[in-house]
Amino acid sequence: MITAPVLVAGEELDAPGDVVVNPARTDETVGRYALGGPTHVDAAVRAAHAAFPAWAALTAAERAARLVRAADELDARTEERAVLLTRETGKVLGESRVDAAGAAGLLRSFASLAAQVDTEEHIATGIGPAIVHHVPMGPVGVIAPWNTPVLLAFMAIGPALIAGNTAVVKPPEDAPLALSQALATVARSLPPGVLNSVPGRGEEAGAALAAHPLVRKVLFTGSIATGRAVMRAAAGNLKALGMELGGNDAALVLESADITEELAREFIAGVFSASGQICYNVKRIYVHRSRHRAFVDAFTELASQIVVGDGLAPRTHMGPLATRAGFERVRDLREAAAKAGAQVTAVGVQGDPDSWDRGWFQLPTVVTGIDPGAELVTTEQFGPIIPILAFDDEDEAVRLANDTEYGLAGSVWSSDIDHATALARRLACGSAFVNVHRVGASPMDVPFGGMKQSGIGRNHGLPSVRACQEPQAVIRVDPPGALPGIQHWSGLTLTS
Ligand code: NAD
Repeated sequence: MITAPVLVAGEELDAPGDVVVNPARTDETVGRYALGGPTHVDAAVRAAHAAFPAWAALTAAERAARLVRAADELDARTEERAVLLTRETGKVLGESRVDAAGAAGLLRSFASLAAQVDTEEHIATGIGPAIVHHVPMGPVGVIAPWNTPVLLAFMAIGPALIAGNTAVVKPPEDAPLALSQALATVARSLPPGVLNSVPGRGEEAGAALAAHPLVRKVLFTGSIATGRAVMRAAAGNLKALGMELGGNDAALVLESADITEELAREFIAGVFSASGQICYNVKRIYVHRSRHRAFVDAFTELASQIVVGDGLAPRTHMGPLATRAGFERVRDLREAAAKAGAQVTAVGVQGDPDSWDRGWFQLPTVVTGIDPGAELVTTEQFGPIIPILAFDDEDEAVRLANDTEYGLAGSVWSSDIDHATALARRLACGSAFVNVHRVGASPMDVPFGGMKQSGIGRNHGLPSVRACQEPQAVIRVDPPGALPGIQHWSGLTLTS
């Protein structure tokens, strides 16, 4: 049986367990995961705390060498991890391969920054030369979501570890298996206690990690509601926080856009990748009224060809929803839109009609004629159902896109790239794309993260490493007494 154990300083700890099911065949158990609780979290954090001084004392280059070695170990089982990811999340195998390979790729990417990580600044101040260098914080808690569990966990583990911190990871209860396999491999390559893992339920293991007084920072990826709970729990010892939260990304298709097959295909990928369960999937589409009909027709024609089924079957484009809650949310949004008078068109092909009812499958669904204030438009659907609305002028389109508490990403589509760029700059979101809006469009050399309630801080590159460190100013005066400004003490003298 595949398992996700509690892993503390390289040792597995006993814990009760629960099962992980395959969303494509919900009667099939994929594996078991440990239900870690506060005592497991405490043991893991104490191990991370004990391992911290020696790990922090290494140079970044020395830490990088160990991370690269760990990445080499990960390579051997990438395909096995990808298959496991498809079985626990429902994603198609191609998507799972990207997720599975992310662990090694991100460790190497952050290791390649080692020379920059150890740089320090020397500042000639009015009172003498000062040094600003960057020191790690201590144990960092990493809380990961189920949609891209391996890659997103390592998006946090990479910067935390190269920065000199140690880490305790809380894998998601719905997809803990592939991530736990990767964590065990990496933990074995590193000194005991540098990387630890406590699977379990969010309200138990996750909440205990967010609240633990020895954890100095929490890097959380997940929903806005849970982000708020983590923030409240973290207040006890004023932890630093990095948060990558939900989005309700708008895409604006301008009058100047040509509705080509390429454009429609980009939108299909932007909307339906991972069955709509990516934080920066396109979640609302606003099309200039003169292009609306052509866009809806082209998009629907391509969506009709999407094969929905088991992610391991070779001709599948889109797998099931990963969770029962997600399946029910999409069903409810579809029913509410239809009841309110919107045109709701479910298209696509059932990959295997005989096993359709065994999984949490939903067909790609296009919704037009919907009220702009409907729940499907104003909240994150996180599933394969997409509202396509019309607008009349561009200021109105920007206002509609920005009229939300979400602020993760957005996009503008046009054959006039300069005009689209000018409009993209007006979107209130962390990533403003032009003529693209899908997984893979946010390279590691540009920052990624959300404005407003979509997040705090940014992922990717050196800034995300610096966010796991504290700048320390070393201020020097030589000899003592060279700093002016103690006149009223000058009458104090030594007699001999
Ligand atoms: P979630 O918030 O339900 O769970 C995320 C993690 O938090 C899980 O490991 C869960 O066990 C844990 N958790 C739950 N309750 C907790 C608590 N009280 N204290 C501490 N931890 C707790 O999110 P999800 O359903 O797994 O993921 C989907 C959401 O994540 C979507 O909103 C999506 O947009 C967002 N997301 C954002 C990004 C990004 O980079 N901005 C990336 C991926 C997913």
